[in-house]
Amino acid sequence: MVLVYVPSCGACRFCMSGRPALCTTAMAANGTGDLVGGGTRIRDSAGEVRHHLGVSGFATHAVVDRSSAVVIDKDVPLGTAALFGCAMLTGYGAVNHTAGLRPGESAVVFGLGGVGLAAVMSAAAAGAYPVVAVDPLPEKRDLALRIGATHACAPGELDALVSEVAPGKFDWAFEAVGSVKVFEQAYAVTGRGGGTVSAGLPHPDSVLQLPALSIVAENRRVLGSYMGTAQPAVDVPAMISLWKAGRLPVDQLVSAELGLADLNRAMDELASGRAVRQVIRPGRTGVGGSQ
Ligand SMILES: [Zn+2]
Repeated sequence: MVLVYVPSCGACRFCMSGRPALCTTAMAANGTGDLVGGGTRIRDSAGEVRHHLGVSGFATHAVVDRSSAVVIDKDVPLGTAALFGCAMLTGYGAVNHTAGLRPGESAVVFGLGGVGLAAVMSAAAAGAYPVVAVDPLPEKRDLALRIGATHACAPGELDALVSEVAPGKFDWAFEAVGSVKVFEQAYAVTGRGGGTVSAGLPHPDSVLQLPALSIVAENRRVLGSYMGTAQPAVDVPAMISLWKAGRLPVDQLVSAELGLADLNRAMDELASGRAVRQVIRPGRTGVGGSQ
């Protein structure tokens, strides 16, 4: 099974219209730490134990709602399967659901963390060309080039690259940083009829400023992608099929495999921007991992 942090009630208008990521019942349950079906199921000596985002990921055992679990083939290694439930779902969904990218369209992705890199490989798998990856860190750009980007550059080098590889600008620009400044840059390199997709989470006080006339005059789209507008029960098996076909090289995103005891160090690595995906194996002991 793959556990996903997007449970769904299956009965609200969002679930019934194929948008379970927007399920309001699940959002409320995730917010309070309840299961989507209501309440909690675990107690310890201190009282109730909450179900973090419905999956309680950092534990040896968990009780989950059935909508938080997607059944997959047994031949997928667990360390690989774990990668499909979070950032992959968001980046893949941003490309395939929010944007609905079609073969031959061009794409640029800003921010090469887990979500951004998932968007890069998903855009490549969906047939985009060129696929440009933008990030200040050279090692992240190198990784993007290995998993499907056709070009990569630092933010300050983008304008020169656009005039070279996408003179009409991009059909799709994906912002996976959570920065208004970066979103404005993404909007600026989106072309006529194109769409600018935000999958990042900016500060709640942030306000976006866009050249308003261009939205109508260039038939532009500005789209928010909450959890990739994902449909986990459909998307996880689809991503695994693409992985089996060699078209979603998710294993390359793993920067370390660690035990539960290494959790705090893993969080520090993630916050520093050095780690991309770290797989926590609860049964593993001692300090592990390698870059
Ligand atoms: Zn629902």
